[in-house]
Amino acid sequence: MLDNIIWFGHDSFKFTGDKTVYIDPYKIKKSDKADLILITHGHFDHCSPEDIAKVTGDKTIIVAPKDCALKLKGNVKIAAPGDKFSVTGIEIEAVPAYNTNKDFHPKSNAWVGYVFTLDGKRYYHAGDTDHIPEMKTLKDIYAALIPISGVYVMTADEAAHAALDIAPKFAVPMHYGEVVGTKKDAERFAAELRRLSAAGTNIEPVILSQQR
Ligand code: ZN
Ligand code: ZN
Repeated sequence: MLDNIIWFGHDSFKFTGDKTVYIDPYKIKKSDKADLILITHGHFDHCSPEDIAKVTGDKTIIVAPKDCALKLKGNVKIAAPGDKFSVTGIEIEAVPAYNTNKDFHPKSNAWVGYVFTLDGKRYYHAGDTDHIPEMKTLKDIYAALIPISGVYVMTADEAAHAALDIAPKFAVPMHYGEVVGTKKDAERFAAELRRLSAAGTNIEPVILSQQR
């Protein structure tokens, strides 16, 4: 179903297909050569220069907000919310990601999530964010990766409501099991989303198993 997505824990993912895409690589065990690496923001558990280096080859392109880009070597493109570009044939849109009821990720930092198209499917990695109005404007998302731990980002309950706005086919909880949050939060997100979508919308929560 989502067999092309490998979850390494926290917000760290690898997508395989036409191209290989990493997002927020963190605590990476095996080296690799990504075509594209997307970084959401400058916090150490998302922008990890040593993990990014592990999956960077000669042709890898890295897309990151400015504060992270300044810490990186290689072919780095700076992204800000609203930017759209095509990198190695992959359409990418950097979208807003920020807190509304806490101060860890201020909107003024211009940190991001990403919507990108791989093998004809649109994926959304929300970054570190609360439930924000911009989520309603996302269209035709196949799978959405949504933070659910609370504390720095949305709680599981808030994330379930956010998922309704995003309206993807599949909703994957992330941002737990590492720095903050547990699998219980992921299960709560899935249960709450099932309860909310009983009324009609048909979003399937998918809890991925962590791989290393
Ligand atoms: Zn963060
Ligand atoms: Zn985080």
